[in-house]
Amino acid sequence: MTLTEKLLARASGRSSVSAGENVWVNVDTLLTHDVCGPGTIGVFKREFGQNAKVWDKSRVVIIPDHYIFTADSKSNRNVDILRNFVREQGIPYFYDVIDGDGADAKWEFDPSKGQLKRQYGSSFAGVCHTALPEKGHCRPGEILVGTDSHTCMAGAFNMFATGIGNTDAGFVLGTGKILLKVPETMRFWLEGELPFGVMAKDVILHIIGDIGFDGATYRAMQYEGPGVASLNMDDRMTIANMAIEAGGKNGVFPYDRLTEDYVRESTRKNGTRQEYTPVELDRDQHFCYDRKFDLSKIEPTVAQHPDPGNRALAKDLNKVTLDRAYIGSCTGGKTSDFLAFAKVIGNRRVKIDTFGVPATPTVVRELQSIVWEGKSVWERLESAGVLMTENASCAACLGGPQDTFGRINKPMSCISATNRNFPGRMGHKESRVYLASPYTVAASALTGYITDPREFLSE
Ligand code: SF4
Repeated sequence: MTLTEKLLARASGRSSVSAGENVWVNVDTLLTHDVCGPGTIGVFKREFGQNAKVWDKSRVVIIPDHYIFTADSKSNRNVDILRNFVREQGIPYFYDVIDGDGADAKWEFDPSKGQLKRQYGSSFAGVCHTALPEKGHCRPGEILVGTDSHTCMAGAFNMFATGIGNTDAGFVLGTGKILLKVPETMRFWLEGELPFGVMAKDVILHIIGDIGFDGATYRAMQYEGPGVASLNMDDRMTIANMAIEAGGKNGVFPYDRLTEDYVRESTRKNGTRQEYTPVELDRDQHFCYDRKFDLSKIEPTVAQHPDPGNRALAKDLNKVTLDRAYIGSCTGGKTSDFLAFAKVIGNRRVKIDTFGVPATPTVVRELQSIVWEGKSVWERLESAGVLMTENASCAACLGGPQDTFGRINKPMSCISATNRNFPGRMGHKESRVYLASPYTVAASALTGYITDPREFLSE
């Protein structure tokens, strides 16, 4: 069996399953957030009763992260609905934007802090997919479902992780089970190591460019080969995150020492469950697609408007002028992403409006405490002209209300370290968004046109 088949067989209590079968799966963790949580709660209450209790409150994780730092009252009300539900159910893993949990507790925009200074309390965790592993909720061998398409990011941790709709999520809240069709598996055999100037984001943009933005529809994307060992956990997260951009059901990586170390540390630090059983690779696996990719041959890659499969090399796009650069999101807002970005920026200044949105408060803290040549990375980016906000969230990755930090409110061209560029994704439907690695976003911010980052990096 493939990794996905093994994961689903175990979770459905079967000795084996094969692609195409429908199986009832026991869920280990359900994630929801402020956009889909209220709808999910509505389905749960309608189907199971106003006074029903969730199947296991220790397995429900609720993370407001999408439309939170906004004056939009409907968005704020969504977070209030989550807070009330958490209080009613006694759910322990709720990463609220504010500290109070009384009946009248509410988040309010503080104009004295503006959009750049911290507007959240002590339990806030930031973007759900980056926060989940950081807070010790990703364990190898488990099943994670979430009301968000990029839930597939957790496949980096040798788990089956996928996005589901509110109706399915309401059912999971009541029963802890979900009916899933076992996907076919595509294998991506990785060899070599990432060359100079190339990041994991280039790898996944290269792969999606190869198979198309629907090339993995309802399939598992399994990564194997000696090249996997050269990718750290952040790299694997970036790659697994974008399985859905090729239509994939999930992305999955084998378990190794790096996975073990990360999970041991994150579960220990957060006091979450530490026991787990990973799934190992079988000799006998059946794939519907099997291809080798030599990492050392990949170059800085861009997904052009209007979809993540519209691939080109950064070096061939230097006629494309830009109005904006954006670094952030679950895919591109990790500490390692900002460090790569800052490495290219160096002591230079950006030429176009450039927005930086860390994925989590931990990223903010790390960037403010890592010092390069007497200055924190945060300060260096601010001095370079990057608008850095402490308000870690999804922000403009998916547009959001009009007052969202970095939102594209008029037609323009933007290069972004995020994961999706369908028309209107970051705001205005006539804008053009180019997806790239943090290296390439930084180089392009310095010149005002799409730029191969190797022009600014020295080996
Ligand atoms: S950062 Fe973007 S892709 Fe990630 S969860 Fe938020 S909206 Fe979705």
